Formats: sequence, structure tokens, C-alpha cells
Amino acid sequence: MSEECIFCRIAKGEIPAEKIYESDNVVAFNDINPIAPTHVLIVPKEHITSLNQMKDDKSSLAGEMIMIAREVAKKTGVAEGGYRTIINTNRSAGQEIFHLHMHVIGGRPLEKMG
Ligand code: 5GP
Ligand code: ZN
Repeated sequence: MSEECIFCRIAKGEIPAEKIYESDNVVAFNDINPIAPTHVLIVPKEHITSLNQMKDDKSSLAGEMIMIAREVAKKTGVAEGGYRTIINTNRSAGQEIFHLHMHVIGGRPLEKMG
């Protein structure tokens, strides 16, 4: 846990967010600055700074995040049309919030990567 971390505060309910899904370990909420009609962030409640800091014994949490991404895609109606899941890690990837999160983006055609 980090006192000032915005995603820790959202996870604890101290800062409001449009929550889409919540389990004991994970919360999913709409991105405040969406880049597509569906733009949801899947966030572990535990403070993990980035994927680099995710310990080897957290594979079940990692799996849960992916399964929740799938459920969020269904719930927001983008599962069939298509969606993208992204974890940005550190500055070259554009990570801005240093609390691990997975983006679920869909609802419009997305540029091919690479
Ligand atoms: P990153 O670039 O770290 O992968 O993505 C951080 C994301 O968090 C951005 O898409 C940004 O719009 C979103 N974000 C930043 N602050 C807040 C906030 O207070 N509430 C919500 N819902 N999203 C936020
Ligand atoms: Zn945090």
C-alpha cells in the first residue's frame, strides 16, 4: 500500500471511480481519459508498482486480471468486435501511474501495432 497512490485510493474507495467489476483482489473501473468507447483499467488492490515488481508467486493474481479483462470485454459489449489488453511498464512504454494496471480498450478499430 502506498498512501499517496491514486489507484490504491480508488481501490479503497477514497477516490470515486466508475467501477465495472470488483473482487477480493482486483477492481476494474473506467479510465478517466478514455481513448476508445471502452477503456477500462484492471487494477490489483495490492500496491504493485509495475509488472517488474510482480513477484513470482502472483501468477494467480495475473491470471485473475486477464480473466477479468475478458469479463469486462463481454460486459461492455466489445468481446465479439475485438479489444486490446495492454500493460505499460516504465517510461518508454508511457507508464504514468506506478501501480500495476491492465488497460482494456475497444469499441473502435485500433491501429495495428508494430
Ligand atoms: P498508464 O499510462 O500508466 O498505463 O495509464 C494510466 C491511465 O490511468 C491513463 O489512461 C489515465 O487516463 C488513467 N488515470 C489517471 N488518473 C486517473 C484517475 O484518477 N481515475 C481514473 N479512473 N483513471 C485515471
Ligand atoms: Zn497503489
